Amino acid sequence: MVPIQVSHNAPRTAVAILGATGSIGTATVDVMQKMGEPWQIVGISAHSRIAELCEIASATNPQLVAATCPTSFEKATAGGVLTPAGSNMLLGPEALIEIAESADVGTVVAAVVGSAGMLSTLAAAKAGKRLALANKEALVVAGSLVNSALAESGGELIPVDSEHSAIFQALQAGQGREVERIVLTASGGPFRSWTKRQIAQAGVEDALAHPTWEMGRKITIDSATMMNKALEVIEARWLFDLPPEKIQVVVHPQSIIHSMVEFVDGSVVAQLSPPDMRLPIQYALTYPERIDCPCPKMDWSQALQLDLEPADTERFPALELGWEVAGKGGSCGAVVNAANEAAVENFLQGKIKFTDIVSGCRRILEEHHFDPNPSLDELMRLDRWAREEINRWAVC
Ligand code: NAD
Ligand code: MG
Repeated sequence: MVPIQVSHNAPRTAVAILGATGSIGTATVDVMQKMGEPWQIVGISAHSRIAELCEIASATNPQLVAATCPTSFEKATAGGVLTPAGSNMLLGPEALIEIAESADVGTVVAAVVGSAGMLSTLAAAKAGKRLALANKEALVVAGSLVNSALAESGGELIPVDSEHSAIFQALQAGQGREVERIVLTASGGPFRSWTKRQIAQAGVEDALAHPTWEMGRKITIDSATMMNKALEVIEARWLFDLPPEKIQVVVHPQSIIHSMVEFVDGSVVAQLSPPDMRLPIQYALTYPERIDCPCPKMDWSQALQLDLEPADTERFPALELGWEVAGKGGSCGAVVNAANEAAVENFLQGKIKFTDIVSGCRRILEEHHFDPNPSLDELMRLDRWAREEINRWAVC
């Protein structure tokens, strides 16, 4: 195949934030405002929070502003009270792709939640951008396609997810062939010390009460089921090209050790910092350089306890799905991810029980016709199918 010619991308300091109103999006805006010149926000998007989108637009003055849900945009701007800033207002889901491909953009921060961010992540990879990737679902669904696109375009992917950023940093201590395993840390979520019986009774408010991280609702529920860690095992498989048996998970309730790499000689290299996503976000932008960061720093004058516990797959069966899907690849990621997104939505709406989220995902994974080498169209068809199946099941 002929490589795509990328000759006119803007410098890396020209940044587009897809999903700018979310937890990662607003943290990126904050980091970038503190970074100052030459860093510049040139594009932003939001789905339904149009007032926040307009606020960010007037504070940062990007050329490209996109509202991906046109109905929300029309509703919010109907009375003429809200006037969107930015010279180029784009509407609809395709706007994400337009921004990701724009020659005015050098770096794309992929901070949309769910597979809704997959096509724009792929577009940024094809266009040879620096891809600062928070949207782990894009890799879970289409990791193979994203990697091929990056290889062809010469684009680069720097992980924003704190665990993968930690591994990316720790890997610099050795060669790829010297890696014995990587160890992803997990906070354990709000149900770390709950019994299986208690977890079965968990309500929406219980599941949204994360002990260490403040995040969007979907990833907060994923942390409670530990599906987030399963998705991260799959994400690690595509980022670091490792088989599932070389990807381990340990529970670390303080969320200070963000992950570790164990090398063949037994050395373990870890990255530590107080839990604050602005650090991995900033690193994904500035890599290979490091600059001062607005995040709190470690206080070595205080006593510090760091606990590590084995992960419990009996109480958190989502974890097994992670290793299984990472091993099988093909269509499995798209199916499990879409089933999980739909199940989380149904749980948040009170339509299914907490434990139904993971059992629903397992059922849909087993029911689907496995395709070892799915096309993009096939992945999108399976994404729709898995959601429909979960929604149908939820009303029964
Ligand atoms: P969030 O819910 O706070 O924000 C999501 C953003 O995506 C918003 O800007 C929203 O407008 C946009 N969005 C929602 N639905 C959309 C759609 N259908 N089309 C286009 N845009 C849409 O989510 P978040 O917590 O910031 O997470 C974003 C991504 O980053 C997720 O993939 C998550 O797994 C990952 N991540 C988040 C954290 C964290 O600390 N929040 C940490 C690691 C990874
Ligand atoms: Mg993470």
